[in-house]
Amino acid sequence: MSAGKIVVCGGGGFIGGHLVADLLKQGHNDIRAVDIKPFDEWYQKFPEVENLQFDLQEKEACEKATKGAAHVYNLAADMGGMGFIENNRCLCMLSVLINTHLLMAAKKFGVQRYFYASSACVYNADKQRDENVTALKEEDAYPAMPEDGYGWEKLFSERMCRHYREDFGVQTRMARFHNVYGPLGTWDGGREKAPAAMCRKVIQAKLSGKPEIEIWGDGHQTRSFMFIDDCLKGTQMFLHGDVTDALNLGSNELVSINQLADMVESIAGVKLKRSYNLKAPKGVNGRNSDNTLIKKLFGWEPGTRLRDGMEKTYAWIYDEIKRNAKSR
Ligand code: NAD
Repeated sequence: MSAGKIVVCGGGGFIGGHLVADLLKQGHNDIRAVDIKPFDEWYQKFPEVENLQFDLQEKEACEKATKGAAHVYNLAADMGGMGFIENNRCLCMLSVLINTHLLMAAKKFGVQRYFYASSACVYNADKQRDENVTALKEEDAYPAMPEDGYGWEKLFSERMCRHYREDFGVQTRMARFHNVYGPLGTWDGGREKAPAAMCRKVIQAKLSGKPEIEIWGDGHQTRSFMFIDDCLKGTQMFLHGDVTDALNLGSNELVSINQLADMVESIAGVKLKRSYNLKAPKGVNGRNSDNTLIKKLFGWEPGTRLRDGMEKTYAWIYDEIKRNAKSR
């Protein structure tokens, strides 16, 4: 299949790695993956892809990355779960250089379609104070009061994509991802997000015989989590589609963190004692995705049941922990 060269920025990361794998599966054979990480740290790396190790905060690197590209997916960002973004606001904001230089290069080389991965962290914090949250509609990003650091960068970069399209005709498309999870992503080290962290804690408690886990916050905070397969489908649908505004791409199956812990315990077949760390970063009290617009515009919404996605994620992290223990 030939759609011209497809560039996946952040190709060594969780979503980028899965996107490259999915494009290959569809038969695309002209793919370039770019990431700042050394190759041995990429979650997925394929020999048939042109793999490049570049710092995309640099303008020249963005030009080398986008030259000759028909489609560019910008999935590169310095990011992580709440523990990372609440303590590294400046690093998160510096990702603005990636999107800015990629857009400049996309304009210079006449890229046909440009996808930007925004986030539910753009939403106004006042709309997320209640655990029994009303799902967030796209219009709730303004008046702006996003997550400090990371959310401001995402909101600014959305605007930049919009104005590159309006002023220069670069065909930008955007999704506001809501918590993406699945196998082959970060599960340890400080950048992991709640679903992977929960799997790791439960597995370690089970394997160590110390039946206890720590939960960040009081466990009543609510979230929705989107399985990676839905994220890949929506991302490509948005890139190829005609909708130019940033749209929610998320599941609307809302659970509390305590319910997520119940689910992982049930997958693991254990019941653990919980301690609640009220000083740990926990983010907003409640967040869910309102999917009215995506359903209206695309006739589809992410639909993988959390339990189904968590079973696959748990199994992968379990194997990783076992494998790491063996290699020590
Ligand atoms: P990830 O951290 O696994 O992947 C991001 C990749 O970008 C990493 O491999 C990292 O090395 C790379 N990167 C960072 N700085 C770079 C630089 N200067 N040059 C080149 N590469 C660089 O994260 P992910 O979960 O795959 O997220 C992909 C995108 O989706 C990001 O923009 C993220 O903000 C957005 N997003 C993700 C989620 C989620 O739940 N995973 C939610 C909302 C938005």
